[in-house]
Amino acid sequence: MRIGTKVITAGRDPDRYSGAVNPPVYRTSTVLSGTVADWQKRQATRAAGVPGMYYGRHGTLTTRDLEEAFAEIEGGHRSFVCPSGLAACIMSILAFVKSGDHILITDSVYGPVRTFADGPLVRMGVQTTYYDPLIGADIKKLIQPNTTVVYTEAPGSHTLEVQDIPAIAAEAHAAGAVVLMDNTWATPLFFRAFNHGVDVSIQAATKYVIGHSDAMLGLVTTTQQLSPAMERCVHEYGQITSPDDVYLAQRGLRTMQVRLERHWATGVRLARWLAEQREVSRVIHPALPEDKGHALWKRDFLGASGLFSVVFNDLPGAAVDAFIDELELFNIGASWGGFESLILPIDPTAQRTATKWAAPGKAVRIHAGLEDVDDLLEDMSNAFKALRSHC
Ligand SMILES: *Cc1c(COP(=O)(O)O)cnc(C)c1O
Repeated sequence: MRIGTKVITAGRDPDRYSGAVNPPVYRTSTVLSGTVADWQKRQATRAAGVPGMYYGRHGTLTTRDLEEAFAEIEGGHRSFVCPSGLAACIMSILAFVKSGDHILITDSVYGPVRTFADGPLVRMGVQTTYYDPLIGADIKKLIQPNTTVVYTEAPGSHTLEVQDIPAIAAEAHAAGAVVLMDNTWATPLFFRAFNHGVDVSIQAATKYVIGHSDAMLGLVTTTQQLSPAMERCVHEYGQITSPDDVYLAQRGLRTMQVRLERHWATGVRLARWLAEQREVSRVIHPALPEDKGHALWKRDFLGASGLFSVVFNDLPGAAVDAFIDELELFNIGASWGGFESLILPIDPTAQRTATKWAAPGKAVRIHAGLEDVDDLLEDMSNAFKALRSHC
């Protein structure tokens, strides 16, 4: 079965729910047993790590169905729902570190993960070295005897560097370290993490899985070998997600393939148009042939999502702000992956320690939504007039 069909069928068993197409929303804290024997059987299956319904905090069948669907789509062994994408990132790190360990994190990492590594992880006695996202097999030089985790994210969600995940994974595995990847940009539809050496694939499902900017959720998918450690960690930290939000993720999942195709096509059209404007220094979009990450993207990825960045020339102070303010169809907002187009002023300078962000002028991140691309292009074209009036 192809992936486009799997997103429709995975994790669905209508016979289990009287024929209902969608799994129902289970709301419960307590799960009752009528007899001691039944109670003991439940305890034993839970202890054996069998997915099921034991207590509300461990999730319900609503949760299990989403986890089953996502594991199948990712091509991993098991998925775990977390209350946010950030929680999924943090749980994935915590599952595989202890005091005295050293970990490697890409310099292009999603900002709040850096905040976590520089704060709570330091207090736990776990030391982080940030690495150049373009390091490839040279990551070997940074691996120490106590390096237990290599945390990757490709492309970076602001600066969109494409990492050589197979090369990094090969070196990490040779040293016995676990390879984590934040796969939110490509999703499992456009990057097959487990075929490229990743052990733990993280998805901020808030973005493309939910896809409608109306809930927050994270998903972590692991290999069979690592799934018991991941399960323990998620439960030990009391991570639980509302069944309504889990349901919204299941619902979003079914249309993710068609939405992504559209985000991809629109993103490329916008990126190409922007690259032609004389005030633009560089468009960072791995699907553009001139992009630095294009060769790796072409080798390893099956598509592109709608997120990319634009670096302007050194323009007069208010010009880029005027461009952003003039846009009607692109509002400023955190997050991405919803149906609506977004724009975000970015300055990666402060988020860098291993590499330097070099740009002649201001930068913005764009999320291409599902609007008609011609309207988006007209909007941009109009907003460029405002930009030019300041130059
Ligand atoms: C948004 C995002 C996250 C965090 O997801 P939340 O659901 O907002 O916590 C993690 N990684 C990337 C790449 C993101 O863009």
